[in-house]
Amino acid sequence: MELKSDARGLFIEGMTSSSELADYLQRKFKEEDIQNVYDVSTKDHIKIARSEGTTPLRKFWQTLNNSYKNTPPFKCGKGCAHCCHTGVAATQVEWDGILNNVIENKINLEKVIEGSKRSIDRVRETLRSNKSLDQVDWHRLVINQPCPFLSEDHACIIYEDRPLDCRLVVAFRDQCESKKLEHAQRGVVIEEAIGATVIAKIQHDQTPKFKRRKFQGVQPLKLLQHWLILWQEKTKKKK
Ligand code: SF4
Repeated sequence: MELKSDARGLFIEGMTSSSELADYLQRKFKEEDIQNVYDVSTKDHIKIARSEGTTPLRKFWQTLNNSYKNTPPFKCGKGCAHCCHTGVAATQVEWDGILNNVIENKINLEKVIEGSKRSIDRVRETLRSNKSLDQVDWHRLVINQPCPFLSEDHACIIYEDRPLDCRLVVAFRDQCESKKLEHAQRGVVIEEAIGATVIAKIQHDQTPKFKRRKFQGVQPLKLLQHWLILWQEKTKKKK
């Protein structure tokens, strides 16, 4: 298996499965690189983020972005949204990060909800049904529907604060319409190796000490549509 390039960019010849890509990328990363990003993102991270006027989660996203100097360059770009038509889930702390972005960029969430009525209604109906929620295939419920945060010109309106789920899918070529594995694939090693753990740690460290006893370690994931429904219900109650 080899990294090659043609007029359309880089590709990994002969790659036929996601595990092959993961193997390939793992060889590109030294364990120390991964450990280093973990250490930087979890040691004194709250203090450092505060001194820089940012949040620990945003600082983590920035650290990840800066960790990819020696990997195959990604070809993902604004205007390509092939991977934004699926179910994206986020933890509470990631959702809080999205809400910060919404406030900073004056995004009208009611409009966002209105624009994604179809997929949000599906999630709402399921939540109201008597189904056991553990048995629901949430991903299938919204598959092929545009993400609520995808604009008409196919850009992510909360890009800087998009959740980990979105960061795990990468493209090595300028086209991934074919959905062939070598064009777009899950397999960004640092994110996969430490993403969920760092996010859980950020959540833990931000939780007041008296509440930490209840901390489960693993953060429940909810679809973005589900978070939007919860946001809307909370906002209505406040009125
Ligand atoms: S949050 Fe942004 S990057 Fe993620 S699926 Fe939605 S539009 Fe795409």
